[in-house]
Amino acid sequence: MNFNCVFPTCDYKENNIEEKEFLQHLKEKHHDEMKSISEKENISIGIAEMITISNSKVFINSWLVFKIKVSLRIQPWFYAQHPK
Ligand SMILES: [Zn+2]
Repeated sequence: MNFNCVFPTCDYKENNIEEKEFLQHLKEKHHDEMKSISEKENISIGIAEMITISNSKVFINSWLVFKIKVSLRIQPWFYAQHPK
């Protein structure tokens, strides 16, 4: 599985790793973000991590998708999870 970290400020990008390795990255580098997301959205940190993992997976090896995420500088999965 290929991962591009979804956080715009992070340039973590790894190919052929397992989810648990990316989860380790989240726990090490993004603990504060995970915590604030879980508090803001009233979800557990585990759920916030799962959502972030699924949004960081690269199903199509598309640099463009990654660039769009960076340029938007938002967390689009929360808009998908909480439609207005
Ligand atoms: Zn990261």
